[in-house]
Amino acid sequence: MGDIGRLVQGPGPTFSFEFFPPKTPEGERTLWRTIRELESLRPSFVSITYGAGGTTRDTTVDVTERVATETTLLPMAHLTAVNHSVAELRNVIGRLAAAGVRDILAVRGDPPGDPMGEWVRHPEGVLYAEDLVRLIKESGDFSVGVAAFPYKHPRSPDIETDTRHLISKCRAGADFAITQMFFDADDYLRLRDRVAAAGCDTPIVPGVMPVVRYATIARAVQLSGAPFPPALAARFDAVADDEESVRKLGIEQCTELCERLLAEGVPGIHFITLNRSTATREVWQRLGAR
Ligand code: FAD
Repeated sequence: MGDIGRLVQGPGPTFSFEFFPPKTPEGERTLWRTIRELESLRPSFVSITYGAGGTTRDTTVDVTERVATETTLLPMAHLTAVNHSVAELRNVIGRLAAAGVRDILAVRGDPPGDPMGEWVRHPEGVLYAEDLVRLIKESGDFSVGVAAFPYKHPRSPDIETDTRHLISKCRAGADFAITQMFFDADDYLRLRDRVAAAGCDTPIVPGVMPVVRYATIARAVQLSGAPFPPALAARFDAVADDEESVRKLGIEQCTELCERLLAEGVPGIHFITLNRSTATREVWQRLGAR
């Protein structure tokens, strides 16, 4: 198995950072500055997302390979099934293996354009993330993560069905799951309880993102489908006009969320960085200081 499955299943909590592949030379400089700044924190692993519609196949592989060869970090590549035949998926998996990458997050991906638009399977592709998990596991000695949704995936009819499908992905061979970002620890804990009650012990790592701009809240709610707790929204509303206060509150709220999760014994914390280092570093330092 790749290393990340073992780390997440191991005793201590993992700390990991998520990046997205840059689209411009400026974005590339920002990403590499951020990677260098966060490298010194010695995270357990970092992950590189796969662009919507399979558009970043080459950059995702390139960035992941560069992290593997030019840094001390352990990288995981995300891989999606959108617009890819099984042969193309095998090709990407083979390129990652050739670069020494043994850890993959298998997600189905959303259609390009409208994420809630009709999901059309490639005629020679796979239908669900569960099939992608099997394909990767058949392709070699990889550790494979999958996506989990504390507040259910927006396409799922109800929470029970969503949980059943998550468990199917775990039974297909996933070594761990990472959640969509969420804002209420209880949503994560209820998911963990439902999965455990079904007899599934796959570790579920919470994904978190510090809110550093007021406008991010609406965007995060839209992307994650997770509700923003009204009491928390009121705290942000009260400081909405003051950028610095919003940032401070976002860092504080994310730190509190991580503390609660760590106290509940989560297997790790996965930070969505948006390719910036400051907010993640501040939350990290506060967690270390307390
Ligand atoms: P699936 O598990 O296949 O589920 C999709 C829908 O189908 C769900 O509603 C599920 O309940 C349902 N379903 C599953 N199995 C069955 C079945 N057997 N029968 C009927 N219905 C079923 N997107 C990207 O484009 N690039 C990324 O890098 C990326 N990284 C992500 C990382 C994390 C941690 C998370 C949480 C999400 C990420 N996403 C990414 C988003 C993800 O691709 C979308 O949310 C996508 O819509 C769902 O992916 P999935 O892997 O959960 O799909």
